[in-house]
Amino acid sequence: MTEGTQGSPSFTELGLCDEVTRAVVDAGYTVPTPIQAKAIPHILKKQDLVGIAQTGTGKTAAFVLPIIHHLTHGRARARMPRSVILSPTRELASQTADNFTKYGKHVKLTMALIIGGVGMGEQEKLLDRGVDVLIATPGRLLDWFERGKVLLGGVSVFVIDEADRMLDMGFIPDVERIAKLIARREQTMLFSATMPKEVRRLADQFLKDPVEVQVARPATMASNIEARLVKVAPDKKTDALERLFRAHGVDKAIIFCNRKRDVGTVTRKLQRKGYNARDIHGDLDQSQRQATLDAFKADSVDYLVATDVAARGLDISDMPVVINLDVPSHADDYVHRIGRTGRAGRKGRAFTFATDDDARRLAKIEKLVGGAIPVFDPFAAVAQAAEEAPAAEPRPSAATAAPATPEVAAAEQETPPAGGEKPKRRRGPKKAAAKAAPGEKAPGEATPDKAAKSTDQAAADAAPAERRDGKGAGKDGERRSRRKREPEPAPAEPVVGLGDHVPSFLLKPVPVRPENSGKGE
Ligand code: AMP
Repeated sequence: MTEGTQGSPSFTELGLCDEVTRAVVDAGYTVPTPIQAKAIPHILKKQDLVGIAQTGTGKTAAFVLPIIHHLTHGRARARMPRSVILSPTRELASQTADNFTKYGKHVKLTMALIIGGVGMGEQEKLLDRGVDVLIATPGRLLDWFERGKVLLGGVSVFVIDEADRMLDMGFIPDVERIAKLIARREQTMLFSATMPKEVRRLADQFLKDPVEVQVARPATMASNIEARLVKVAPDKKTDALERLFRAHGVDKAIIFCNRKRDVGTVTRKLQRKGYNARDIHGDLDQSQRQATLDAFKADSVDYLVATDVAARGLDISDMPVVINLDVPSHADDYVHRIGRTGRAGRKGRAFTFATDDDARRLAKIEKLVGGAIPVFDPFAAVAQAAEEAPAAEPRPSAATAAPATPEVAAAEQETPPAGGEKPKRRRGPKKAAAKAAPGEKAPGEATPDKAAKSTDQAAADAAPAERRDGKGAGKDGERRSRRKREPEPAPAEPVVGLGDHVPSFLLKPVPVRPENSGKGE
């Protein structure tokens, strides 16, 4: 049975007990999301359920709330959890645990978390005493089961979360084993953003007459996510990224790379340019990842550079911008990545950087999301923002944008969009920023919302306002990023051709011989 869209009743009307609805209200939620409205009544009736919904839709609470409702009665026995939630990643498992804590605050509920990378002594003690909820990644759970630390005979509710991720990560055989070990369960639920045939087979094998509920994929349906394509040459990605930051006043974003090593490289490049960036990838241990995530949530980190695996399941509710520095290899990952923004009905923006080599991947994504992603050119936008009013809409091509100031004109020449001419000289924004008087905006940093004024006027207005009360004409975040960049010293001489990596011997003064005169600076 598949259900369509319907209006949302209140949490109480869904049939949840008072303790649970009070906790939901405490969390600040009044209206169930579509997946919650559709799934909760069935879960409360103990029906098996397939939920086709991706992260960001409120799907975690869709199963957590009714599970808490059920678990308020009865007691757990030593080492025999009453429910098992399987998560593909530690992060998702931790966030699911947070959900149980948040929504279970008015009931007596015990919980253990079996994931890699954190000290497990405390969890083992909890498990020994008996827990109502056990949240685990598949490999860890099997490991603990084999060592006799956990018994699965008392599990009545079993949830397989993000089944398509389990598939991507090669966990399906482990999930199948666990499903067989939890033989006496009364209810099984499977959640997945997509339903590839392997996941469908898993559902067919382990769920009994499941109800199937589905919510619109945010990537295809949500009008609150503004997705844009940034066409760029491979070696111009960092440049384009900075232009994007300026053109859109992006002061906080998650930036996805396909490869771990690129995550490190991009983070270092941003840091060197004065941005407050940090990386998160699979080689970091759990406590490092958590610390980075906490710093990001607390706004002490502005830009989180991540791989898909590291970012999977991250619950960052206030994520205004997602940037795909690489087109993801699988179209589904695009949906997952951009699902980090526009959560719970908020407005979000997603920018995907694509090179000429990405044409095939991009075609698959556009097929999946049901149409071409509009192009945004940050190079043109920066120039346009400095020049025009109101200039909020991006232009399709840099070719039509006339640079407004010498600085912007220089920058335009130096960093053309994909397919443009090779730069003659690289002069970074550090140089441009340093050229501006202290407390003043570098001309190239104009943003669309400031462009209602003439460039000169906007710059003149912005500087004193910032000094006076910290509330400049621009967006808060833009100011923050700018402030962070200001102490960066400008290079003594422009660097020609070698990007950020200039061997020190090349920086030593060289005696000028007559035949060299006229070359270089
Ligand atoms: P999830 O899909 O589980 O990753 O949840 C996405 C985000 O939606 C989380 O930040 C939740 O805290 C939030 N959320 C869950 N339920 C609701 C609700 N009924 N109304 C608004 N936000 C919600």
